Amino acid sequence: MKMTSEFSGNPTDTNCSPPPRVSRKPSAGTTQVNVKGVCFGGKEAVVIAGPCAVESREQLFETARAVRKNGAGVLRGGAFKPRSSPYNFQGLGEEGLKMLKEIHNETGMPVVTEVMDTRQVELVSKYADMLQVGSRNMQNYPLLKEVGMSKLPILLKRGMMATLDEFLLAAEYILNMGNENVVLCERGIRTFETSTRNTLDLSAVPMLKNLSHLPVIVDPSHGTGIRWLVPSMSKAAIAVGADGLIIEVHYKPEEALCDGYQSLSLNEFSDLMPDLRKVAQAIGREIF
Ligand code: PEP
Ligand code: MN
Repeated sequence: MKMTSEFSGNPTDTNCSPPPRVSRKPSAGTTQVNVKGVCFGGKEAVVIAGPCAVESREQLFETARAVRKNGAGVLRGGAFKPRSSPYNFQGLGEEGLKMLKEIHNETGMPVVTEVMDTRQVELVSKYADMLQVGSRNMQNYPLLKEVGMSKLPILLKRGMMATLDEFLLAAEYILNMGNENVVLCERGIRTFETSTRNTLDLSAVPMLKNLSHLPVIVDPSHGTGIRWLVPSMSKAAIAVGADGLIIEVHYKPEEALCDGYQSLSLNEFSDLMPDLRKVAQAIGREIF
């Protein structure tokens, strides 16, 4: 195998290949990443759901119980939030992590939450079942190396201005440190288009799955930034072969401290799940 990091997804470019540890070996399947019994990369697509940020016990617990009831496999919720403005809600920190652990113990749902800094990895790992490296940190190489030394599975989000080769190279950092449990997440990229928050690059899904053995999921919430677009893009993501979704859901989206305009209400989430099951069945898959 070529060890070069220079490759492109251009099918006419035969000189290039993805980095060695993330690259898909000929005829090999998708690697299965197990998050406390919930498997990414198998026949079942997994829906991760929950609020953008943990805001309060009531907000987290009501949202978590509802998404669990409607078939979410993993709970999301940020305790450390990467906000564009330093004056916006930054997250509850360890208090939020404790709430995530508590609702995990109640519902049994594994929890994914973001780690923004190498100094947070130890603390967050005490409470989380999966560590999220966010878009803004996809090229934070010390952080990638640190989570590469963790025993927990990693959800790596595509940088908002990252090419797929840069994305796979970021994943390579984690695998290179010994952690092979990485799930890739397409979350939209910055383009000239302004009608959506980001441009959700759904062609990245089959392209990444062709280049790499790692499971690939889609974030239609940050990918569009618009609540009413989330259901259709979620269905489209499953249709193009995503191994799962990460969807922001809030019990009162209009009161959310973070990303309410792109969060589904509890009813919208429960309406979406049966549709996702139908799309999954149409392509020979199921929803966890
Ligand atoms: C998030 O998932 O809450 C988040 C901040 O996402 P991203 O890193 O993709 O912007
Ligand atoms: Mn968010």
